[in-house]
Amino acid sequence: MRVLSAIAEVRAAVAGARRDGRRVALVPTMGALHEGHLSLVRRARVEAELVVMSVFVNPLQFGPGEDLARYPRDPEGDAARARAAGVDVLFAPTPEELYPHPPRVTVAPAGLDARWEGALRPGHFAGVLTVVLKLFHIVQPDLAVFGQKDFQQAAIVRAMVEDLDLPLRLVVAPIVREPDGLAMSSRNRYLAEADRREATRLSRALDAGRAAFAQGERDAGVLQSAARAVLEAAPAIAVDYLVVVNPATLEPVVQAADGDVILLAARVGGTRLLDNLVLGAP
Ligand code: AMP
Repeated sequence: MRVLSAIAEVRAAVAGARRDGRRVALVPTMGALHEGHLSLVRRARVEAELVVMSVFVNPLQFGPGEDLARYPRDPEGDAARARAAGVDVLFAPTPEELYPHPPRVTVAPAGLDARWEGALRPGHFAGVLTVVLKLFHIVQPDLAVFGQKDFQQAAIVRAMVEDLDLPLRLVVAPIVREPDGLAMSSRNRYLAEADRREATRLSRALDAGRAAFAQGERDAGVLQSAARAVLEAAPAIAVDYLVVVNPATLEPVVQAADGDVILLAARVGGTRLLDNLVLGAP
């Protein structure tokens, strides 16, 4: 595995591989790698002979007062985990490499960020799309792999790929969970011990929604209440949103159908956690 920090080096490495007829996959991350990230690498390996992983804590997608400064960083651990998972090129640029001056041009969603994470984190998705588009242009992958964990993000990146005619295929890989159900996240390490235990309620809440759906309930309000009850029993948990949405429009539905998604964001003792579940999925 090569660890590169310069855009020009990455372009050269990818160009060489492409000349040899190898397909290129990109897995963008912010590092502090866990099994969720590594599952994306393994997914990428299925269809590409060169797997590029980026590790970059993107200042553009953090709002004032968010956790940019204290976001976990572990370059050595990341390199070891990435190498073991089969990454060929680890691209770990400095902020100065990607943003030599304050951006004069950014890319923003038109509408899909009006609700949920976008409403609670103004400018967040413009920051995400801008860095993702830069990474796409630097690496020019045939395939990019994102996680379902960040459902709204994946939907917005998909919209960018479609609407801006980007010549790559987007793959969205399933959520990897801890044995007790908690969706893996770099931010889980912020959780104090008691909050870590309470955090299992997020996936249990989604399971309650899934169970009600499986029993034939289709009223989105009833499904949401079933899930919310699991969270409201815990004083340490504050729900930001818990809603059944259409997976493409991200608009709330009244009657739930197969493929609709329960989106959940909650603060557990001050740590914001996201989770989601596709209804009717196997
Ligand atoms: P992050 O480093 O948190 O920005 O995440 C980088 C990529 O990994 C994003 O596409 C995430 O959706 C994905 N990801 C994060 N956590 C998980 C997880 N538990 N399972 C699957 N994918 C994940």
